[in-house]
Amino acid sequence: MSTFQDLGLNDDLLQAITDLGFTKPSEVQEKAIPILLESETDLVALAQTGTGKTAAFGFPMLEKIDVSSRTTQGLILSPTRELCLQITNEMKLYGKYCKGLNVVAVYGGSSITDQAREIKRGAQIIVATPGRMKDMINRRLVDISKIQYSVLDEADEMLNMGFKEDITDILSHTPDDKNTWLFSATMPREVATIAKKFMHSPQEITVGNKNESTSNVSHEYYLVNSRDRYQALKRLADANPDIFSVVFCRTKRDTQKVAENLIEDGYNAGALHGDLSQNQRDLVMKSFRNNQIQMLVATDVAARGIDVDDITHVINYQLPDEIETYTHRSGRTGRAGKTGVSMVIVSKSEVRKIKSIERIIKREFEKKEIPDGADICEVQLMSLANKIHNTEVNHEIDKHLTSINELFADTDKDELIKKFFSVEFTRFYNYYQKSKNLNVAEGSRDREGGRDFSKNSNSTRYFINVGSKDGFDWMKLKDFLKEVLELGRDDVFKVEVKDSFSFFNTENETKEKVLAFFTDFKHEGRFVNVEVSENRGGGGRRNDRRGGGGRRDDKRSGGKRDDKKGGYGNRSDRRRSEGGSKPRRSDSDNGAVSRPRRSRR
Ligand code: ADP
Ligand code: MG
Repeated sequence: MSTFQDLGLNDDLLQAITDLGFTKPSEVQEKAIPILLESETDLVALAQTGTGKTAAFGFPMLEKIDVSSRTTQGLILSPTRELCLQITNEMKLYGKYCKGLNVVAVYGGSSITDQAREIKRGAQIIVATPGRMKDMINRRLVDISKIQYSVLDEADEMLNMGFKEDITDILSHTPDDKNTWLFSATMPREVATIAKKFMHSPQEITVGNKNESTSNVSHEYYLVNSRDRYQALKRLADANPDIFSVVFCRTKRDTQKVAENLIEDGYNAGALHGDLSQNQRDLVMKSFRNNQIQMLVATDVAARGIDVDDITHVINYQLPDEIETYTHRSGRTGRAGKTGVSMVIVSKSEVRKIKSIERIIKREFEKKEIPDGADICEVQLMSLANKIHNTEVNHEIDKHLTSINELFADTDKDELIKKFFSVEFTRFYNYYQKSKNLNVAEGSRDREGGRDFSKNSNSTRYFINVGSKDGFDWMKLKDFLKEVLELGRDDVFKVEVKDSFSFFNTENETKEKVLAFFTDFKHEGRFVNVEVSENRGGGGRRNDRRGGGGRRDDKRSGGKRDDKKGGYGNRSDRRRSEGGSKPRRSDSDNGAVSRPRRSRR
């Protein structure tokens, strides 16, 4: 086991390393630093995220460049603005004792002229995203013709993101005899191609197996019906009160929706995806870093920049299409020597994907059960007990102690504890009291697949006060219901659209959810009313109607809705003051499905 001294770094760098609190080099550093210091060579280094790659190329680059010159000698390309800023920041920390060092970040979404001005002042090292770098070159705002060291950081990601041409273009403006150091977590064919094309007999180092997941991360999967995905997510969060997680969805739309639902249900959640402005993304990331957000719901592309060390859980709300993407997702946890858990929520039809992932990442998944209500209540109660036990007393309370004591004069300690805990606990208890088992047995019939339509005694028929006048035909209405209710392909059936009203069926078990959802749901400015129809809905008869689409605006717009709101009034305030506990909006799993806010563009 070597030390940073053994690797041959100079005193300025060693001093910075001491300041940073790094005691010993990580494996990739141990392997890469001596090679890069001792020889002028190209290098391909494969190592997981969180293994310290920045320092593995950063220290050698700082050691080798001439800080007394103002010429740009080092160029580091990275896939995202977020990473670009992080690397810049790290480089400045590593080089804090290198007098005259100037590291400049070049990335989109910020003034190009400001960046050009900074470079003009003499930047020995530029850290850049490919898009903006190319822009700068085209506008002749930068001279990289004297580059001696170029780094392609997260090369696989850059290629994934379609930066191949930009990279080729940028490198064509650099000297042929420079050294290129490529760092990547995985080695897909495109990376190998790039290495061949741009590098001269590179040395290769690998930490762990290629494409293999770090051993700090354990992998779990949970088998549920597709329609229970969201409930399952909430339970996983509730069963881990101190969760600090990234929740991955496949599309921007799902990402936004899951995040909104979580927020409505009182979780400290946020969304991160490409439809948000840079400003919004920065704010979300800031809250995440400050631990104000416990569940960051993200798309794969948007999450590429996330480099937060203490993420406890990665939750795959949906599995990615590419298995390599799974490696990246799970690599967001278990960083910097910590352990982490990567959870996958799967439906029956996806479960075989787990096997393929296992083969590629060379780790086994553990099949686990979604915790039931009793488990969660216990976890929450004990978490609360611990929190109280560890709470520092606020002595402002002292002056009120006499009156409080008077109030509790007749209450003994056990009783007092029970009452005190009930304040918080009853909400969880009520919420989970009627909760159902979300787990699906591995051998059972896939409910999303073959539903038996002829057998509808298990289904409920509903009346809904929208119809063809509102632009619906049966397909549109079915899609609409599926979407707002988050139901699976065949979960809404027997849809029959009339002029100003319609009918549809769902299975009985979704009844509560359907009815709860439509208590104050508005579509195009009007309250949508859904009621159970007495008619089973075989022949599509007219007489199971309720007075021709009569709206219930009278009932809906009045006290009822406001009462409900009032019950959860200033939820956000409570959330803040409770430091992360989750007030529930309703008493049952089903009822707790929230209305997606419609205001988003
Ligand atoms: P990667 O680029 O491989 O994903 P980073 O370079 O971002 O990893 O490093 C991950 C974290 O580990 C950073 O917070 C970094 O400061 C820290 N780190 C890097 N090297 C060491 C070390 N030798 N000892 C302790 N922490 C380190
Ligand atoms: Mg990195």
